[in-house]
Amino acid sequence: MIGPSLGKTSAVGLACALLLAPGARAAEPAQTWATQMRTAMGTLWTVEVRAEHPSQALDKAFAEIRRLDGTLSTYKADSEMSALNRDAGGPGVLLSAETRELVGRAVAHARNSGGAFDPTVGALMRAWGFRTQDYRVPDEATLQAARSRVGFRHLHLEASGRIRIDKAGVELDLGAIGKGFAVDRALSILRQAGATAGRVDAGGNQGVFGPPPIGTVWQFGIRHPRREAALLGVLALASGSISTSGDAERGFWRDGVRYGHVVDPRTGQPVRDCLSVTVTGPSAEVADALSTTLYVLGPDHGIPYLAGLPGYAACWVLPGPDADHWRIRSSPGFPALLGAPPSELAS
Ligand code: ADP
Ligand code: MG
Repeated sequence: MIGPSLGKTSAVGLACALLLAPGARAAEPAQTWATQMRTAMGTLWTVEVRAEHPSQALDKAFAEIRRLDGTLSTYKADSEMSALNRDAGGPGVLLSAETRELVGRAVAHARNSGGAFDPTVGALMRAWGFRTQDYRVPDEATLQAARSRVGFRHLHLEASGRIRIDKAGVELDLGAIGKGFAVDRALSILRQAGATAGRVDAGGNQGVFGPPPIGTVWQFGIRHPRREAALLGVLALASGSISTSGDAERGFWRDGVRYGHVVDPRTGQPVRDCLSVTVTGPSAEVADALSTTLYVLGPDHGIPYLAGLPGYAACWVLPGPDADHWRIRSSPGFPALLGAPPSELAS
């Protein structure tokens, strides 16, 4: 995370002032930049846009983000996700086509990744206290009980359009893909509102299009995994998205061990041999799901996995020989991190 941002990556050189588009002629409607910040989905969102009516575009984008928070949140009792989870073990529920399709894509990520990504991790998130921020290392019996309530194969997308969870206590949690989906939706709303450039930043998930307010490429600070307010390097992107999963933001220390909120569904344990993963690629939703998946898979399995996903690339920050050092490993195609330490072992 850099500076005061709550996110794990953050655009550098953010212009909050209104700027006239370079080269705009008097006869053309003037396009200006505007920025707005709001909280949704448990995080701080920053949206900046260049448009003829930027504040209208911003309002529409935030209305969409709020709407999706209302459907996908497992914290809101009246959301579609909560209705589905309450029905676990029951006959199934009819959800909107949008949610059903998103769940379908989440299940595809689960299947393709051999269960490294699994949208039914809800019971494990509760067992480790990530839901209520009442963090604890669960005892063996609690862990086994939670593990028995995890598994994407308990989810059935039926021909009738219903989604059915075939076991009580299995809980769908789209925390690893929902924010990315909302970033893509907000970007598309900005475009529909006539924007020619913009950025949607949900902390760990961001997407950009068009030229930035300053310079020619958007720049993203990749936060140092262990040093608050320090940068590991800067990544430049002309368009597309970037997603980071890590243990720095949501997690706890116990006896010198860091337990982060990405769990390996196959063991029930928080992943401990990775500090962060940053993924770039065209879709924020796919990058979001991938950063979680690749965090679980690690580079040895993750780099071959990415070979089947053209357009996506990743960079892992891995522990080094001691707590003060770490290693960086990138997949082919990952842009060079500007200003990153030149050596393999950074401190
Ligand atoms: P962030 O929410 O910080 O952007 P991620 O995208 O990596 O980070 O999502 C982490 C969230 O995803 C967790 O809070 C939990 O809700 C869910 N989750 C944890 N482990 C997994 C997993 N292996 N597969 C799918 N979802 C997961
Ligand atoms: Mg994710």
